[in-house]
Amino acid sequence: KGGGMGKIVALGEVVADIYRAGSERPEELPFIARPGGAPANLAAAAARLGSVAAFIGRVGEDLFGNFILHALQACGVDVSGVRRCDPPTRTSIAFVEVSPSGERSFTFYRTSPAADELLSAEDVTRKSLSGASFVTFGSIPLLREPSRSAVRRAVELAEELDVPVAFDVNLRPHLWEGLEEARREILPLLGRARIVKLSDDEIGPLLGTEEPLAAAGRLLEAGVSLAFITLGAAGAFYAAPGFRGSVPAFSVRAVDSTGAGDAFTAAVLDHLSRGPWSEARVREAATRGAAAGALVCTAFGALGALPDAGEVEALISS
Ligand code: ADP
Repeated sequence: KGGGMGKIVALGEVVADIYRAGSERPEELPFIARPGGAPANLAAAAARLGSVAAFIGRVGEDLFGNFILHALQACGVDVSGVRRCDPPTRTSIAFVEVSPSGERSFTFYRTSPAADELLSAEDVTRKSLSGASFVTFGSIPLLREPSRSAVRRAVELAEELDVPVAFDVNLRPHLWEGLEEARREILPLLGRARIVKLSDDEIGPLLGTEEPLAAAGRLLEAGVSLAFITLGAAGAFYAAPGFRGSVPAFSVRAVDSTGAGDAFTAAVLDHLSRGPWSEARVREAATRGAAAGALVCTAFGALGALPDAGEVEALISS
């Protein structure tokens, strides 16, 4: 792939996160609203870093739907692929409590189905993917229809159009209830992705090993070109058929790690969309991912402290 600016297309879940920040931080409002949902976060992070970014999803014809569209647009995300669902289907809301020690607990308010759960194959058009450097999604849409078909459509179109698929699995441990079903949907898709990103708490349930090296080996055997395993405050590991390595985390004053992994993937894709995937550039991509992830940890919510390219560079060279 040549240089220039990449276009990153993300699809999937999107919710409105309402944070109760608590009295520990009197300088902030007690409540903060931010768009949430990993692929929406990823699109916003990529746009902030300078990529052309588009999000494909669904929101309700309601206040929080307006809020999400407005907030993503303000980040520079193309939201022309976001469809709106009529009432009674509504945008999902997650109330997030952050304890003084940084633990998060969620209370969801959603219709059944919620607007974002109605993402469908017809929402993923050839036009929306053509010319993209990457199409990316996570596991949540795979857990039910019609969104499962939307992901399948995206993968088929990507293969037809030769757009690399980046699968950021992003299935938090508390969502592994239907583990067998989730594995059934996720495992066959791994081999159709050129890039797969997992976090260290996902490799055990999904690949049956706690060892990043072994997990990456399994991904490469499945046909993945490039595997990234994030290790939280311990940085990240990467592997390709000819090389592997790891990058340390950057030291920051972390208050909330929501969205760190999404920013990591966004920075990786942003960097890899600008040139060939040489070993040196993959390492640079991982370093940028770690820097973007660290910066996102410095404020509440995934979109609270999205860094631009200059801020990422500044942290790397600090
Ligand atoms: P995920 O959200 O997918 O679990 P991680 O929490 O592993 O992802 O975070 C992604 C990246 O962000 C990590 O690889 C790391 O580089 C960076 N990061 C995460 N938490 C911290 C932290 N507390 N301090 C510094 N960097 C962090």
